[in-house]
Amino acid sequence: MPPLDKFFHKKIALVNLASGTTAVEPWPRSLANEAERCIPGGSAAAAVLSGIYGDALVLATGPLTGTMSPGSSLLVASCPVSGGAYAHVPILLRHGTALKTTGVDFAVVSGKASSPSILILGSKGPRIEPAGGLSGLEVPGMRKFFRARLPETRHSLLLCGPASGWGSCGSAALENGTSLDRGHLAPWMSNHNLLAIVLTGGGSLPFAGGRRPLFDKLGPKSGIGGFLDVLEHVEGGAQAKGTAEKILGRPAACHSCPWPCMAYLKPGPSTNGLLCADHAGFAALCGACPDSLPSALEACLRLGIDPVSGASAFRGVQPDAFGKAIENLFAGVPPAKGPEFSFPLLSQKEAPERALAGMVLGICPILVQRCPDIPVGQWAAGPDSDPEAASFGDMLKASLQLAAKARTDAQQEDMEIRHG
Ligand code: SF4
Repeated sequence: MPPLDKFFHKKIALVNLASGTTAVEPWPRSLANEAERCIPGGSAAAAVLSGIYGDALVLATGPLTGTMSPGSSLLVASCPVSGGAYAHVPILLRHGTALKTTGVDFAVVSGKASSPSILILGSKGPRIEPAGGLSGLEVPGMRKFFRARLPETRHSLLLCGPASGWGSCGSAALENGTSLDRGHLAPWMSNHNLLAIVLTGGGSLPFAGGRRPLFDKLGPKSGIGGFLDVLEHVEGGAQAKGTAEKILGRPAACHSCPWPCMAYLKPGPSTNGLLCADHAGFAALCGACPDSLPSALEACLRLGIDPVSGASAFRGVQPDAFGKAIENLFAGVPPAKGPEFSFPLLSQKEAPERALAGMVLGICPILVQRCPDIPVGQWAAGPDSDPEAASFGDMLKASLQLAAKARTDAQQEDMEIRHG
């Protein structure tokens, strides 16, 4: 039996928005085969599944998602972009665990719905529903809509705010408005008439682990130092640090992370409870309109605007002119897409590889970089293993290669079986 079996349900949710059909099936054969030699999680799994299912959105957890490993709530959303490439968007907070507790490891969403729709992934299987009153709402209204519609669940939301219709500068918002989507996920959803994906979880995990050696090794942190540390490594972050120190208050972390790197804005007009999780977005808006920063952050979260793209439209706008700037945005030409990057890379030499490894394992790519003293292999060994062990190190290397590689012969076989 492959050593990774215990970490996965070995089930996949398949959703076709065009036909309105859904199913939960065992992993396709090529993915099961890859599990013999590599870690078939996160962006590596998405590379295999996108080879089989073509122009599809892939939501992927990793082997460590939902375990006792620090930072293990990551979900990876992989979206087709031009030229057959895929953009991998890290979805933080607790979305990975929310998908895995539905009883599947991955969800593949293909086709275009004929009318605005909602996809609900729950422990009773996936279902597609009409969007109804969700259409036209801003992000806070969308969250309220789901609280009323699904009062019995603690759901995780991926939402297309009004700006998703602008294409590449719209970003998918999570349940409290935060996102690291740089105009990939929201435009895909909008183009396929999918206004929201709801992860309701509630079921069991295949393996959670009982020990927390890496938690013990990391120890807890508090304060907004984590936000400032990450901010320093994004474009314009060093200049934004002083502003961040002035306007940020309570720190916040994803479920299962002992080192918070997010923070709430200090209470103020219309910004109560506003969570800042996007360091690059914070720095971009701070550079564009430092006097209006809280209003700019609030507008991006409310409307689902990627703040890196939105910064160009808000440049130099004063607080008393902010409402007009938003009106102009909706009435005129939306901002151009910002520079291409999806999450902060810290400065150490091996940062890109550590971030990629996190995206395969289901561990936050920012946290893996923030702990340069912990070899990635220790994470890959799993929560209950000897902290010095690195038994999955070679498999991880193979996964990183897989994430970067195009369709294989085995995937081609699966395609032939599926499409006759
Ligand atoms: S490092 Fe930041 S983004 Fe990553 S898990 Fe911790 S709080 Fe979340």
